Amino acid sequence: MKFEVAITDIITRTSDVKSFRFNRPPGLEYKAGQYIFIKLIVNGNMESKPFTISSSPTEKDHIEFTKKLTGHDFSNVLNSIKIGELVGIEGPYGKMTFEGEHERIALLCGGIGITPMISICKYCTDKHLNNKITLVSSNKTEKDIIFKDELELMQQQNDHLKVIHTLTRPTDEWEGCSGRICEEIIVNEISDHKDCIFYICGSPLMVASMVSILHDLMIPDEQINMENFTGY
Ligand SMILES: Cc1cc2nc3c(=O)[nH]c(=O)nc-3n(C[C@H](O)[C@H](O)[C@H](O)COP(=O)(O)OP(=O)(O)OC[C@H]3O[C@@H](n4cnc5c(N)ncnc54)[C@H](O)[C@@H]3O)c2cc1C
Repeated sequence: MKFEVAITDIITRTSDVKSFRFNRPPGLEYKAGQYIFIKLIVNGNMESKPFTISSSPTEKDHIEFTKKLTGHDFSNVLNSIKIGELVGIEGPYGKMTFEGEHERIALLCGGIGITPMISICKYCTDKHLNNKITLVSSNKTEKDIIFKDELELMQQQNDHLKVIHTLTRPTDEWEGCSGRICEEIIVNEISDHKDCIFYICGSPLMVASMVSILHDLMIPDEQINMENFTGY
């Protein structure tokens, strides 16, 4: 489906990540984990890029996508957009979705790869689903953690959700995990990992590295879903 929508809200998430919201067009249904194409005029040409929907299907009024600001052309045009301005959207697309079909899931993400995971966590929390979820999210520093407050609130609301942050450049005060997501973190934090359906999202390198770790842990491909954020 294709729509032209006006941006209604812009939320700064971290120093280089912003969320953009627009009113949900009538008829646009999506599943947690799916993405849409955003179309903008960049240097006089219409350009289109995929962005995961970071809102949940349970949020009926608005749809949100969240962009890592890269300083490149498309990013700069989006970053300069004002409330009320129009963008083209097309979708939804994508098969890395979750609607409660697996009893036990583990979500592994790097940086902006959090976007499908936040939608899945919000969906399960709003729907009061009993599915057990462990989210392992990797970032550089504490300030780079996207949706930190939202995830903390969800953990208070949802006893079945466990969130683990790991930092590659932690300060001395950081008491959580450090380093990239590794075999040790998965084994220690997800003791029943053999029973999990995994969802992975991040850069192609991050995703490949997670798949390799899961293969080492003898997790079969049937238990692994992934989304590569190509284009960086
Ligand atoms: C299914 C899917 C879902 C995605 N979901 C998200 C999401 O939720 N959030 C998100 O942030 N991203 C997401 N992405 C990635 C997103 O679509 C963009 O590719 C990414 O954000 C980079 O956009 P950009 O504005 O830097 O693009 P561009 O400006 O087109 O830059 C893309 C690449 O072009 C090159 N480039 C362009 N301009 C320059 C320049 N001036 N100097 C040097 N190199 C340059 C660089 O290699 C750069 O990495 C997703 C991708 C996929 C496939």
